[in-house]
Amino acid sequence: MNNYIFATIYLTLLTIEFITLYTLTLLNINSVLKNRDNIPDIFKSIISPQKYEKSIAYTLKKEHFSIFRLVFSLILTVTILFSGILGGIESILMGLTSNKIILGLLFLGVVSLILGLFDLPLSLYSTFVIEEEFGFNKLTIKAYIGDMIKQIVLSLVLGIIILTTLFIFMDKTADLWWLWASIFFISFQLLLLVIYPNFIAPIFNKFSPLEDGELKIALEEMAVKANFKINGIYVMDGSKRSGHSNAYFTGIGSSKRIVLYDTLIENLSTEELCGVLAHEIGHWSKGHIKKRLILTFISVPLSFFILSLALNFKPLYTTFNMVEGTYHGLLVLMMLISSSFTFFFSPLSNLLSRKHEFEADSFAKNLRGESDSLIQALLKLSKDNLSNLTPDKNYSAFHYSHPPVIERVKNLKDLVE
Ligand SMILES: [Zn+2]
Repeated sequence: MNNYIFATIYLTLLTIEFITLYTLTLLNINSVLKNRDNIPDIFKSIISPQKYEKSIAYTLKKEHFSIFRLVFSLILTVTILFSGILGGIESILMGLTSNKIILGLLFLGVVSLILGLFDLPLSLYSTFVIEEEFGFNKLTIKAYIGDMIKQIVLSLVLGIIILTTLFIFMDKTADLWWLWASIFFISFQLLLLVIYPNFIAPIFNKFSPLEDGELKIALEEMAVKANFKINGIYVMDGSKRSGHSNAYFTGIGSSKRIVLYDTLIENLSTEELCGVLAHEIGHWSKGHIKKRLILTFISVPLSFFILSLALNFKPLYTTFNMVEGTYHGLLVLMMLISSSFTFFFSPLSNLLSRKHEFEADSFAKNLRGESDSLIQALLKLSKDNLSNLTPDKNYSAFHYSHPPVIERVKNLKDLVE
């Protein structure tokens, strides 16, 4: 295959990706506008016409911005790839060092820095204009910069550990490097599952054990009923960043815990919080965590195997004016172009996670012998987060890891009858 053929294949896929995402966003905007005058029945009791109008304005603003983002990132990607910038940076760095590991770290660092700088204004706009306008942003510029510094330091530490190990495997284990890299990568991910709740998440938020009282008793009683060994229910100070609320399940083994945002506790009743917790227990009880891990055990080696084939694929480098077969070149190019080859799979992985959400909902209903508390919690969460209540079906199939609330409520109600 020569450079022209490879460039044509890549640009075709990139165009398909762009058109697909662009069309989906337009469909979503259309679906929102079409339903503008009618609040869906299930939300009528909980959402006022003013609030509904506000949720529409919020969705539209975000979708219009995402179109801008799409166009911006298309132009940026094509410019970086075809302008020869990558080759230029590469030759400067190769003049500085011939050590493959240092070269790899520097090259990935410089490219990530460039991409990060271009993304910064977009992220600022999203936080301080859109989220601010709708009352969600609670961050000051100073706190935002503080977060950014923490994130950079954390990415540097994790990035250096992961990349150095990866480069050593690529260098020392010949054709089987993909296998060694996979074993390392999976082990590292398992380790992160253990250290994330205890060491990484607390860098950004404060986690306090849920205070004794009616809520704690109710939640613990339910955990016992579900035969769920709870290692802790924690409250996270999510309100210091954003008015959005959520709950999640984190860790494995003895680091396993349930995290509730303080905003969630403020807005939901004890019964509703029990509904939410029952859903989270459902993920554990139905083995979703294990299933996702098994999927990682399959997808990581597969991805590294494909990478190992790509390492010696000449046009990948020469098309973009880079030295062929280098480790740093492989990783940076994959970072830039792989989404065009893999974005077709995202509906598939969302399909699985939506199936799990329905299962966890059904579990919660069976455990509690009623579904009203969870339904009320879902409706309230939609209202408070100004969620899009009428997303386009294709859009949600492609982008949503959770089913639209309207479908979850229907599912919960169907089960009742
Ligand atoms: Zn869930």
